[in-house]
Amino acid sequence: MNAPASKPTTASQTHTTCPYCGVGCGVTVQHTGQQVLPVSGSLSHPANSGRLCVKGSALHETLNHDGRLVFPQLNGKHASWDDALNIIADKIQQVIHTHGPQAVAFYGAGQMLTEDYYVANKLMKGFIGSANIDTNSRLCMASAVVAHKRAFGSDTVPGCYEDLELADLLIFTGSNAAWAHPVLYQRIAAAKQQRPDMKIVVIDPRRTATCDIADLHLAIRPGTDAVLFNALLVYLADSGQLDEDFIARHTDGFDAALEQARSDCQSLLQSADTMDVDAATLLQFFQWFAHTPRTVTLFSQGINQSASGSDKGNAIINVHLATGRIGKPGATPFSITGQPNAMGGREVGGLANQLAAHMDFSGSERDLVRRFWNAPKLAERPGLKAVDLFQACARGEIKFLWIMSTNPLVSMPDADAVKAAMAQCELVVVSDCMADTDTTRVAQVLLPAASWGEKNGTVTNSERRISRQRGFLPPPGEARPDWWAICEVAKRLGFAEAFAYQHPADIFDEHARLSAFENNGQRDFDLSGLTGLSRYEYDALKPVQWPVNDQYPHGRARFFDDGRFYTDNQRAKFITVAAQLPRPRSGGDLLMNTGRVRDHWHTMTRTGKAPRLAQHRSEPYAVFHPADAAARRIHAGQLVHIRNERGTLLLRASLSNEQRRGEIFVPMHWTSQFASNARMGTLINNDCDPFSGQPEFKITAVQASPCTTRWQGMILSRQPLHPLPCTYWAAGVTEQGWFYLIAGDNDAADFVKDIQPQLPDGQWQALSDPAQQHERRVLLLAGKLECVMMLHRKERFLDRQWLQERFADEQISAADRMSLLAGRPAVHVDTGNMVCSCFQVGSKQIEHALHAGHSTVAALGQQLRCGTNCGSCIPEIKALLQQARCEVAL
Ligand code: SF4
Repeated sequence: MNAPASKPTTASQTHTTCPYCGVGCGVTVQHTGQQVLPVSGSLSHPANSGRLCVKGSALHETLNHDGRLVFPQLNGKHASWDDALNIIADKIQQVIHTHGPQAVAFYGAGQMLTEDYYVANKLMKGFIGSANIDTNSRLCMASAVVAHKRAFGSDTVPGCYEDLELADLLIFTGSNAAWAHPVLYQRIAAAKQQRPDMKIVVIDPRRTATCDIADLHLAIRPGTDAVLFNALLVYLADSGQLDEDFIARHTDGFDAALEQARSDCQSLLQSADTMDVDAATLLQFFQWFAHTPRTVTLFSQGINQSASGSDKGNAIINVHLATGRIGKPGATPFSITGQPNAMGGREVGGLANQLAAHMDFSGSERDLVRRFWNAPKLAERPGLKAVDLFQACARGEIKFLWIMSTNPLVSMPDADAVKAAMAQCELVVVSDCMADTDTTRVAQVLLPAASWGEKNGTVTNSERRISRQRGFLPPPGEARPDWWAICEVAKRLGFAEAFAYQHPADIFDEHARLSAFENNGQRDFDLSGLTGLSRYEYDALKPVQWPVNDQYPHGRARFFDDGRFYTDNQRAKFITVAAQLPRPRSGGDLLMNTGRVRDHWHTMTRTGKAPRLAQHRSEPYAVFHPADAAARRIHAGQLVHIRNERGTLLLRASLSNEQRRGEIFVPMHWTSQFASNARMGTLINNDCDPFSGQPEFKITAVQASPCTTRWQGMILSRQPLHPLPCTYWAAGVTEQGWFYLIAGDNDAADFVKDIQPQLPDGQWQALSDPAQQHERRVLLLAGKLECVMMLHRKERFLDRQWLQERFADEQISAADRMSLLAGRPAVHVDTGNMVCSCFQVGSKQIEHALHAGHSTVAALGQQLRCGTNCGSCIPEIKALLQQARCEVAL
């Protein structure tokens, strides 16, 4: 039942795969029993060749069992697995009997392993008989899937990571890869360093860290990407830069696509005006594109998370088809996924509108899957996509909902409405590795899931590379892999024969056999070369790009190099794209964009456990252009309300000229476990792409106003503190406990009085000035620091690094006690904002070294080690260098 650890290459070494982003880096783990040493990048993994970003290199810090869900729960009480599984199966049966299979739904995640995903999809679509299984990948890359299928006849990523290094022109559009896909970005940065003639263009309303290596940044008006690529298509036609031969021999629909593009983009000047960019810069980009055969366009959530994301994807693919730049080394459109196994989900039909093995609900493919599974009740039609699924819950149409490995009350648009919708279900089951999330709080049944390092299976990264994720630790308590729980429910529903798997290898084998079943080269997804693997061969499986078959026994790097597509006539399709201009709903005079920060992942259930990842961005924030902030009397570091008719967030203001006027940026990660009021999904509306069902996360109308509180402050405590009786709080872990940034409208002394009962008895030291709302408290237990509270009228934070070091002291010295009460160290050691999380180097340390003459990234690296491990912080180091040079120039 528990997946055994794979056969290690040495007694204490396991090669596995990072569970975070779609780059899919190989990770090598050294371990002795339960003890895990710092992880390293696998030198032999083709995705990363030994590199890891800061999130990957902190993986070993996230393996503790704090907060884990370790046994099944029914309405908050410990239950046996048998009871929980029986209740689930009984309820599914009763709902099907009373309301039909369409009243049952599953909601999964790109975090699930392919084997978990496969059995969930098989149970729902094949045996329950409804296709109501969707996933948080709907929020990530569903638009790219539609764009691929419309253009190529299949959901095929045509290229590979090597193409990004081989390109002479690399375009990032809607992608802050420096933060979201750091290792791939570092590979590209290294290629650029080796070949300085390689051109990099970033298309993004924000000037992000990715622009650090850009030759050109087009800060377009949000949502005008299709205008840009349509205008480029017109330019290519008018300047005679089309690949007429490729268009004639391998495509359909060019004339109609061009005609529509011409009507959208009547002149370069008009297009530049629509996009709010300089026409000369736009022309420069068009000329580079026209004259660079080796061009890659890498696109991500900035394209996909849009009410017209599918069309934007096709506008990108159109310019590649028009120039024949597809399937060639260094020439391809390239969609990169956010999640580690979004691609695996696509392969098994994890989306409600797909069947397994890249098949659809069309007559012949449905029949094929039905026969292969021997599933006479196979769903006849596509199911509900994520937003529709939760709206059906709200209408009372879904009676049973099983959520796996995801936290929709944080990540879904209109997240508070999702909460209300789930309350309408008769039974909500959540499988999770963490006990307390926004979503587990509203479920009646909780199933403890095995987590990274404990579970065993495969994932597929953004270049179609299948890698093994191997377990090396036993799951805590009664936690089990998701595939096991799904199969146990299936058996109780009477489908024992179809779900008699003993090991993930058995599931993978069936998955591979289905991909090969009656394929004969007709479908892109073909793992016929991986069928019949023994358990040992499965355990030893090396990373390989699909397809794996007779023609490509070692995998295939590129598709479509033969000019053969998977459409009816084997020709690619130009899609006629009428560029939609963004139409944000009313709600305010600022447009809110959302996205990732460098050191966190999704809803922080894992990265929130690593102290060093909590330092780069310690609290939820909103970035404003300085002029927008000034117009609203908002200053840097102040708390601000961000609101519209759906809700209100309370965030810390940050000011940056890298933000366009009229727009703000808010990160996506903070949950109710980490901040008082920062779930950005509560403000997002339900507008979706009509083809993909992917919601618009990049353009939400909001208002902003300053939030004035009577006091602000911070707490460091060995114990977690909850609740915090104040207006604002944001929490993070430290090596010895927790830190909290807080603010309140009550009396500071009352806050202290209310919080003290949560702390153990000990020796308190206090300094108080009620007139100034100054309250300082130091709690010592046997001479050791237990808690420090600092409350002041204005934002004034004691240097956290110094404070954390005091928590490591066995005894607090008399001098340090005085410093703690005084609110400042005797020797001022403020290290500034965290820049290099790997080596804990702050901005002030870097500035100090700069002034001492270490004025290059390399020299700073030599002096402080910053930027010398994963390299994720190099853009920020360069920004500090740039700032220092400007100051000198002034
Ligand atoms: S880039 Fe970082 S987060 Fe993404 S897979 Fe690699 S190590 Fe993990």
